[in-house]
Amino acid sequence: MGHDARTVGEGQDPLEVWIDQDLCTGDGICAQYAPEVFELDIDGLAYVKSGDDELLQAPGATTPVPLPLLRDVVDSAKECPGDCIHVRRVSDKVEVYGPDAE
Ligand code: SF4
Repeated sequence: MGHDARTVGEGQDPLEVWIDQDLCTGDGICAQYAPEVFELDIDGLAYVKSGDDELLQAPGATTPVPLPLLRDVVDSAKECPGDCIHVRRVSDKVEVYGPDAE
């Protein structure tokens, strides 16, 4: 009997983010809001970065959203003129912020 206290307050589901470069206008708003997560490449389009600062250029590449940066990433998705920043739950791939979020 008894309850497992460790399950309390586990925090929210891990999130990841990806960019649809086909729709990116290259304005760089995301890289201003969250430079730890987004960066413009020399092709003028925005890409997500890995935790160790590497640009991820495979189509649909995702990177984890660090919790302290969630607000900046969500603001980026909201302000993105291309509507092409997608934030989704890692567990079931459901989009929670971005053009395909409910
Ligand atoms: S805010 Fe959107 S459109 Fe602008 S550079 Fe970033 S991903 Fe591209």
